[in-house]
Amino acid sequence: MPGVSFVEATKKFDDVVAVDHLTLDVEDGEFLVLVGPSGCGKSTALRMIAGLEEVTSGALLIGGEDVTDVEPQDRDLAMVFQSYALYPHKTVRQNIEFPLKSRKVPAAERAARAERAAGLLGLGDLLERRPAQLSGGQRQRVALARAIVREPRVFLMDEPLSNLDAKTRVQTRAELSELHETLGATFIYVTHDQVEAMTMGTRIAVLDGGRLQQVGTPDEVYDRPANLFVAGFIGSPPMNTVDAAVDRTPDGGVALRIGTGRIELPAALARALSGAADGEVVVGVRPEHLTIGQGPIEATVKIVESLGHERHVVAELAGTHEHQDEIVTGALVIVRQSAEDPAPRTGERVGLSARPDQVHLFDRR
Ligand code: ADP
Repeated sequence: MPGVSFVEATKKFDDVVAVDHLTLDVEDGEFLVLVGPSGCGKSTALRMIAGLEEVTSGALLIGGEDVTDVEPQDRDLAMVFQSYALYPHKTVRQNIEFPLKSRKVPAAERAARAERAAGLLGLGDLLERRPAQLSGGQRQRVALARAIVREPRVFLMDEPLSNLDAKTRVQTRAELSELHETLGATFIYVTHDQVEAMTMGTRIAVLDGGRLQQVGTPDEVYDRPANLFVAGFIGSPPMNTVDAAVDRTPDGGVALRIGTGRIELPAALARALSGAADGEVVVGVRPEHLTIGQGPIEATVKIVESLGHERHVVAELAGTHEHQDEIVTGALVIVRQSAEDPAPRTGERVGLSARPDQVHLFDRR
């Protein structure tokens, strides 16, 4: 099973640069998720692999072979879309067999392969039904069966679960991951949903404005976001990011001034602050890494929201000051607590703290 490589691949629609010098290697057999907000270029990138969009500049390789100018039908891949595009008058069996029929595969082999694909997706009992007699989740599984029946080298999926209800989506997510393991094929999956990306991808590639922001395993991207965009996009609620001033201490250490508080960084972390960040930086802390108690950063509790198993507390940092004749209020941060933690009251003054090794530093936008 071959991988797919983008080599400085760019796609322009007149003035719009949809995909901007994308260089990315998708490994053979991996489940790579392309994720980013609407309009970031992820569908265009996928369609470039499929050959449905011409590459404006750069190249595209499948299995190490340059396919930039190869016709879509000769690329040996299958694409599954958000809309199932099943033939309404054909049965499930006929729908699944269709790609083989158009390739003139003999009837007996067609039937065997269709039944195997249907079996893999739990459609064995539904082969004689028509699409109208199926649920949304079942229809999407027929579309998947129709994609796998050809045994392509690469599967391309564009938001295939977004028409399903929440429960079916979670279930189908797990089935897709299982299918990926069974087939061992290369899966490239597009979604705007970072939860889907985090749960399904062996690696995820985060795009914004047509540019690759970061690629890594879900843990790498969550634990070490490359920039402010990734920090804000991955995680729900997203990472808190607030401006901070940097004080160099005489012993070579560093202290961050956040609102009225101060966090001293150990030498190892202080080194991560390059000389460039001598003035002001943006400090990022995940909501689950902020603690409410006697910490050094003063804040006022604004909202307390219980979700049953956990609690989200929105707090405003102290440190209101005047800037160019305007009153600038403190930044808002979200703290994620366990339901067992004592709940603060709205309006209460609290002290927030964060462990220095769970603090992220970013250059200003
Ligand atoms: P995403 O899938 O991340 O939502 P797209 O790849 O669909 O983003 O689009 C990326 C950018 O390219 C957007 O600005 C979009 O408007 C533009 N775009 C996509 N397809 C076309 C097209 N056929 N013609 C003109 N602009 C397009």
